[in-house]
Amino acid sequence: MSAERTAPQPLSACDEPLATRYDVALLDLDGVVYVGPDPVPDAPENLRKAAKEGMRIGYITNNASRPAGIVAEHLASFGLDVTAEDVVTSAQAAAKLIASEFPKGSPVLVVGGEGLIVALEEYGLTPVRTSDARPVAVVQGFHPDVNWVMLADGAHAIHEGAKWFATNLDLTIPTAAGKAPGNGTLVQAVRAAVDVDPVVAGKPEPPLLETSIERLEAKRPLMIGDRLDSDIEGANAVGIPSLWVATGVNDAYDLARAPKHQRPTYIAAGLGALAEKQAGVTVSGSKHTSAGWTAEVVNNAVTVKGEGAPYDGLRAILSAVWTAVDAPAEPAKPAKATSRGRRPRPKPAPTAETIALDAALHRIGLDK
Ligand SMILES: [Mg+2]
Repeated sequence: MSAERTAPQPLSACDEPLATRYDVALLDLDGVVYVGPDPVPDAPENLRKAAKEGMRIGYITNNASRPAGIVAEHLASFGLDVTAEDVVTSAQAAAKLIASEFPKGSPVLVVGGEGLIVALEEYGLTPVRTSDARPVAVVQGFHPDVNWVMLADGAHAIHEGAKWFATNLDLTIPTAAGKAPGNGTLVQAVRAAVDVDPVVAGKPEPPLLETSIERLEAKRPLMIGDRLDSDIEGANAVGIPSLWVATGVNDAYDLARAPKHQRPTYIAAGLGALAEKQAGVTVSGSKHTSAGWTAEVVNNAVTVKGEGAPYDGLRAILSAVWTAVDAPAEPAKPAKATSRGRRPRPKPAPTAETIALDAALHRIGLDK
């Protein structure tokens, strides 16, 4: 693998614009480039600017329902310069996995739609629609037309010995009317009827990002996403840096509570950050400073002082909170009985859930 793999430190500094430091952006789509049919405000303009700086823009999606060419047409409608070659779907990553295990032309049962059929054909496999075709593998990916007959036939083929692949395990998908069941939910329905787990291609599992890094010939890739449990965890899993943006499902509170494996290298309001440097954090005793802000955790609450850009303030706050949460618990002192015979309770160590965040996030303008 030619890409640079360095275990990324969360909240790192970058002393040049991200668009010049990294050669390829691996962009999550929903909540980063678009929300439903519409572009995220300013996202197309910021991506055009990054491309002018020489950054290649790759579009990476866990959603297997649409073929890459259709996704590219959607993105091009925002004025972006995109072809199918710039789009990598979890359906393609799943097809690549299957093609690496089974000979060309092998029949593969599709529990999904057009996105999977096109991807299987791209990798020289033969999509089939019934277990009567004796498939060597079953591949399951989201499509609105997936119905009980397909789920049952998938389970039947798995019983018969076909190997099971899933494009992704996202439990929900965003729709104009709110959250709806996603592929992970439909995978659970099949899982209830079989005795094995599927091999998973999409984020946060490595195959989709590995496929993207290889196809886009990235030497210094930067994963960009809105979800900590798929985009950021996925980047950490393959050892590449990540930029979290605030235009999607997760917010400052989620970041503060993120476990270690879901913490991003960089944070920003949106894709305008590609044209900017990133301040890091300096730590002095219990004080965490990023640009004009200094944060500290005292008595299970985080405080912040200073002024400047909100996401510099958030970086200081996150550094203080994560340091407090990660610190090893103080050894319990031998409890002395009080005069009334009660033993004092040991002071509980701060956890991501117990540290009060509201006042500090209000101070920087990022409270709910
Ligand atoms: Mg997203």
